[in-house]
Amino acid sequence: MWDEPFYLRAAGCGGFVKGSDVAPRHCHREPVVVGLVLVGEPGRRRSLWRGFACAAHAGALLAARALLPRDQALLVYRREAWHAQLARAPLERRPRAAPRVGA
Ligand SMILES: [Zn+2]
Repeated sequence: MWDEPFYLRAAGCGGFVKGSDVAPRHCHREPVVVGLVLVGEPGRRRSLWRGFACAAHAGALLAARALLPRDQALLVYRREAWHAQLARAPLERRPRAAPRVGA
């Protein structure tokens, strides 16, 4: 079972990488698989979310498979929404790391 944090609505790979910084940062590798992430505690209400991952973080996904054109379209949509959100956010509220655009 995957016990690392995973960002479900990432505009790229939802995994995190540990570096010399204090906190882990978002993975910026290009996603190669799409799959499901189970959210919630056993015995309570749970839900499945679609997530994307690079080869290193593919283990975080259930039923992972290679990306199809419709998955690439969703990634493009998420990236556009991410950049639109950045453009609207005041400078002091902008996240420090933005996902890469394009493959
Ligand atoms: Zn990754």
